[in-house]
Amino acid sequence: MLLFKYPILKNEFNEITARLRTILFAIAGWRDFYYHKDVVITSLIRRDNTNSVHYYGRGADLRIHDWTNDEISRVKLWIDTQFPYGKGKPTFYPESGHIHIQVPL
Ligand SMILES: [Zn+2]
Repeated sequence: MLLFKYPILKNEFNEITARLRTILFAIAGWRDFYYHKDVVITSLIRRDNTNSVHYYGRGADLRIHDWTNDEISRVKLWIDTQFPYGKGKPTFYPESGHIHIQVPL
């Protein structure tokens, strides 16, 4: 199941790009099917930085502390294969403290 750290994120979920929403639904379904675990979104739209993909509704952050390294590498491989970013950039990569996902224009 897809969960939200704050209630406002559920509203923002309807404002992000459709492709990003599709990927988040895919990750949540994948994790539920294989691991019976939820996916928690911690950040979507940030209106304070025009240089960030988050400003444009093309970035999402997920809670990472309940993911194993094996889960991360498996879902990353699957998502990167099925939803390529283009121009060689990763679609899905762990950063410090969270998993960041972004999609191209
Ligand atoms: Zn991010």
